[in-house]
Amino acid sequence: MPLTDNETMEIFLKTGALLQGHFLLTSGRHSNQYFQCAKVLQYMNYTELICNKIADYFKNYEIDTVIAPAIGGIVVGQEVARQLGKKSIFAEREDKNLTLRRGFSIQPGEKVLVCEDVVTTGGSVFEVIDIVRENGGEVVGVGMIVDRSNGNVLFGVPQVSALKLDVVSYSPNECPLCKENIPVVKPGSRKISK
Ligand code: ZN
Repeated sequence: MPLTDNETMEIFLKTGALLQGHFLLTSGRHSNQYFQCAKVLQYMNYTELICNKIADYFKNYEIDTVIAPAIGGIVVGQEVARQLGKKSIFAEREDKNLTLRRGFSIQPGEKVLVCEDVVTTGGSVFEVIDIVRENGGEVVGVGMIVDRSNGNVLFGVPQVSALKLDVVSYSPNECPLCKENIPVVKPGSRKISK
């Protein structure tokens, strides 16, 4: 049985993938949450459980290959492919564009599932979808660990996330946490690392 949303959330909190507090995001905005997917993917048992939601969703689809954008998606694609018993490849950046290297290829008619860790704008996933189609492959669907698009990113194929985690952010002068004089921390600084 795939995890429930509450069970998934519990694992994110327990592993420090999801931090709660008062954070300065790279955008310059403030948030009460910070999410770092790699923190949960450190642990194989949790990776297996969380990726199972994606594998379970696509278990009855015809799939030849799982593809992921490097770097974040690789672990997810690999584990989903393992559970489905399929091949796993990834696309990586060369100059600015994602591309297939290392002898990876997609054949015409190949049925491909795209996997990613976190989707915010969906940029990397859209790029991978283009690569699959340019090679004549068929995109069967998209699986992601966390959908942070606030429901705004649709790939036009079946898609599933282990969890939807809407991004809540504030401009610094409207931030309710600043108004409460809670110190703001930059994620990755020592203060919040365990
Ligand atoms: Zn603030």
